Amino acid sequence: MIRVAVSGAAGRMGQAVCDAVGEADDLELAGRADPALDAPLADAIDGAQVVVDFTTPDAAPHNALEAVAAGVHAVVGTTGFDLEALRAGVARERADGANCFVAPNFAIGAVLMMRMAREAAPHMPECEIVELHYERKLDAPSGTAKRTAEMIREAGGNVHDPIHSVRLPGLVAHQEVIFGGEGQTLTIRHDSTDRRSFMPGVVLAVRRVADLPEPFTVGLEHLL
Ligand code: NAP
Repeated sequence: MIRVAVSGAAGRMGQAVCDAVGEADDLELAGRADPALDAPLADAIDGAQVVVDFTTPDAAPHNALEAVAAGVHAVVGTTGFDLEALRAGVARERADGANCFVAPNFAIGAVLMMRMAREAAPHMPECEIVELHYERKLDAPSGTAKRTAEMIREAGGNVHDPIHSVRLPGLVAHQEVIFGGEGQTLTIRHDSTDRRSFMPGVVLAVRRVADLPEPFTVGLEHLL
């Protein structure tokens, strides 16, 4: 059994993670942390082997560092903070071989969308990204959109600025990458219509984080 503490447990993603942990035969919910539950991470972490964080851009880096400094692995889904600062913090503060895994998107379909966009880039380099999310999302553009742009640029594509961010009620997490060439366009689109779409990726990361070869890893593609 892997004992899991959930940080942001009262939030939309945190509640879905608590349910997914409860449904997995090899995982056990060791604690919930959230200001709404009046439950600090320090208490939830006690006895946990992995902390899963879906909180806010301000809170997530501190939570991840608190976990690794206590020798507890961290799986972070929160987006909108400086990844390089967290990488440096993990290298400095980790204890007992604790690893940190971060994914801007835990949905397998989104990872495939990013891969396909990277594949298209050398052939149809001119492109734009439109990401669409629920209205209360704090960061824009999304972590997925920023990572997609990075992958397309590395493959020789020209992602036009700005990345377009739509925030509306009724949306969950959606993105399209539109490539334009002479007399044709190619649109690659992914839709998460339910937060359950992220759970297989989160559970996979919880199972694998202890065995990662590097202390800090970004992207679900590294686990597939
Ligand atoms: P949410 O519903 O607002 O939930 C966030 C929760 O974290 C809230 O209950 C919040 O409490 C709590 N929180 C704030 N500070 C905290 C702290 N220091 N320690 C513990 N908990 C704390 O947001 P959400 O929709 O679940 O999204 C959370 C994050 O996940 C966002 O960054 C979002 O972009 C990201 N996300 C990532 C993926 C992915 O696949 N990687 C998928 C979906 C969403 P208060 O309300 O009291 O502040």
